[in-house]
Amino acid sequence: MPDAPSPLAIVHGRVVDPASGRDEIADVVVEDGRVTHVGEGAAHAVPGADRIDATGLIVSPGFVDLHVHFRTPGQSHKETIETGTAAAAAGGFTTVCQMPNTDPPFDRRKRVEDARRRAAEEGVVRLVTTGTITQDREGHELAALDELADAGVVAFTDDGDFVDDTHLMQAGYERAAILGLPIAQHCEVPALVDGGLIHLGPVATQLGVAGRPAGGENAAVARDIALAALTGGHAHIQHVTTAGAVALIRDAKERGLHVTSEVTPHHLVLTQQALLHVIGDEPYNTDAKCNPPLRDQHDVDACIAGLADGTIDAIATDHAPHQPDEKARAIEEAPPGMVGLETAIPYVMSLVDNGHVPLSVAIERLTLGPVRAWHLDQQLGLPGLGTLAVGAPGDVAVIDPGDMWTVSVDTLQSRSHNTPLIGEQVVGRAVVTVFGGEIVHDIRGLDGRAS
Ligand SMILES: [Zn+2]
Repeated sequence: MPDAPSPLAIVHGRVVDPASGRDEIADVVVEDGRVTHVGEGAAHAVPGADRIDATGLIVSPGFVDLHVHFRTPGQSHKETIETGTAAAAAGGFTTVCQMPNTDPPFDRRKRVEDARRRAAEEGVVRLVTTGTITQDREGHELAALDELADAGVVAFTDDGDFVDDTHLMQAGYERAAILGLPIAQHCEVPALVDGGLIHLGPVATQLGVAGRPAGGENAAVARDIALAALTGGHAHIQHVTTAGAVALIRDAKERGLHVTSEVTPHHLVLTQQALLHVIGDEPYNTDAKCNPPLRDQHDVDACIAGLADGTIDAIATDHAPHQPDEKARAIEEAPPGMVGLETAIPYVMSLVDNGHVPLSVAIERLTLGPVRAWHLDQQLGLPGLGTLAVGAPGDVAVIDPGDMWTVSVDTLQSRSHNTPLIGEQVVGRAVVTVFGGEIVHDIRGLDGRAS
């Protein structure tokens, strides 16, 4: 057993803890893996603690991400548990939920148990596991949901694909409801979007490629809301991207249905125009190709409004690593998705800086929001997860909201660097990330920075 980390006092930071409403200059002390003191001058209680001077920095609960792809097993050339969780730590994330579309997928007990063992052995932050809805992720028969629940999955999802069979999904929602777990659905109706590469709109027309209509997402969201109403199940709508989906979810919540949702940082900022921002020979940038696709400005505006008013519970990265040779293919062949863990802060801070979303709300959607959406505190037996309450897990993100840095192969911890921000200068970065009282990311002392 490694030695317990020494007590840690993060002093004089702007402590933002949405659970308590705290937003003030204060100290946070972590001992034996838990938060033990919070408040002005709280560090005096533990004079021997190691100190982190957070003057001018934001001190938040460690971020929680409901949606990452770590590609292991099967495609560890794109990402491993080690590099994926290192990227999480570098982005301020201390709890991340791995999607089950690995090779093989997490569709039976043994595979979930193996995934959980790998997560515990190789992860530098908390990596929790989801299970598939259907066997082999093929959409034909339900996976053994009871077994997967027993093995410790926190949600069921065939992410990457929508489970199209409505009758099958009715049974899935019924079973998941009995098990008390969410169904997390990638909402795009295949018949409406198959063959489409990017959003059906002016950029698809300009590039002469087939599009994925917003209606493909809206129809899928409406179907799953209807199933939540029919079964009493919990529908979690993954990566919302359309104004129509936001309106449907808002209405479902007003009707008291058990519906929650998430949005990615990139869908809160970028539109389909990002595909035209090119550096190489092709007339498009495949790093901006993702599913669901980047959409119109009015969709982005609706997602921001939904995030601000609580229609959208969580910011989730959909961190989706791919290698340069894969992304260098023609747009028809390049796999969809972008890495997101290390660029979430700059995307989100841009919304805060523009006055679109208050800082405390942005932080809520990165911490308590996702915890509440999936009851992760109860599921994982971690009271206070996503907060800085006394007794909460000692998971803390220390953020420099003004730090300017360049997104590059050298600055990213992920094994892949497929993001349209590559080469761009961005603002906002996690300076220190603490997981269970241990420092798992620390850039103090680098780049001539004060330590
Ligand atoms: Zn997805």
